[in-house]
Amino acid sequence: MAETDNGQHPDRNGRRKRVQRIKAMMRCAILAALFIPAVFSIVTFTHLMNLFRSTEEMLEQILASYPEEKIAGEAVAQTSVFATAPLGESVRIKEEEKPVLEEEENKIKIYLTFDDGPSSNTGAILDVLKEYKVKATFFVTGKTDQQSRLAYKRIVEEGHTLGMHSYSHKYQEIYQSLENFSADLTKLQEYLYEETGVWCRYCRFPGGSSNQVSKTDMRELARYLEQQDIGYFDWNIASGDAVSGRVSAQMIADNCIAGIGGKRVGIVLLHDMAEKKSTVEALPQIIEGIQAMEHTELLPITDDTIPIRHIMKEE
Ligand code: ZN
Repeated sequence: MAETDNGQHPDRNGRRKRVQRIKAMMRCAILAALFIPAVFSIVTFTHLMNLFRSTEEMLEQILASYPEEKIAGEAVAQTSVFATAPLGESVRIKEEEKPVLEEEENKIKIYLTFDDGPSSNTGAILDVLKEYKVKATFFVTGKTDQQSRLAYKRIVEEGHTLGMHSYSHKYQEIYQSLENFSADLTKLQEYLYEETGVWCRYCRFPGGSSNQVSKTDMRELARYLEQQDIGYFDWNIASGDAVSGRVSAQMIADNCIAGIGGKRVGIVLLHDMAEKKSTVEALPQIIEGIQAMEHTELLPITDDTIPIRHIMKEE
C-alpha cells in the first residue's frame, strides 16, 4: 500500500480531511448563526431611523402650514375646560368671554335702599320696582300689623334684599348700650326669620354709623355686628327725602342723579314712610335717570356689595 508524502496511511489522511471539512462547515454555520441576525438588526434599525426622520419632517411641515393662533388655541384647549370642544370653537368662546367680563367689572353699581318701612307706601314702591324690573334693599323695622307682615313677605318674594334697621327705631334705647342694641337687633332678626324664613345678615344703623346720638361707641357696635356676621351699610348718595316738610319729587330725583357723579359704587338713601309720598313719585324718574346713564346697573345689596361706611372700625 502506497504511503502519502508525510508517510501517513491514505485512509487516515482522508478521514482527517473530512473531519477538517466538517469542522470548517460547523465554524461557518456558527459564524452565520451569529452574523445574519446581527446584519438583519442593523438593517432594520437603519430602516426605523429613516422612517422616524421622515415622520418628523412630515410633522414639521404640517405645523409650519398651521396658523400660529390656532396652535396657541390648541394649547389652551388642551388645558382648559373646553378641551373636548372643537378647536375653532374653543378659541371663539375665549374671545367672546373676555370683553363681557371686563364690561361687567367696569359698570357703576347703584343700590337703592329704603329705610324705616314697612309703611303704607311699601306696596307702591314695590309696584314701581316691579314695573322697571329693578331689585332694591329694604332696611326695615319691627311691625306686627297684618299689612306690614305681608310687606316683609312681598319684599322677599319679589327678590329684594331684606335688611335690618332696628326693631324699635328708638335711638335713646338702642344706643344706650351694646346690650340694648344687640337685644333689639336680635329681636328683629328672629322676628323676620319667623315671618319670611330669611335670616337677615345686612343692617343699617338708625341715623347711620356716623350718628351723633349714640351713647355707645359706634366702633364697639360695628365690631359686634362683625362678630355676628352682619354687614352694615351706610350711604354716599342722599336723596334728601328725609328733611322735614314736603320735598318735591323732582328735587329728590335730581339729588339722586347728581349724587352719582364720578362714583363707582353708589348707595342711595331713600325712605319708606307713610308721609314721604314724594319718594314714591320720584322713584320712576330716579330709575329712568340711572338707567339712561351709560355703564350703570341697579342692584340689591348682597355679599358682593362693596360697603359704604361712614366710620371705620379702627378709627
Ligand atoms: Zn331710620
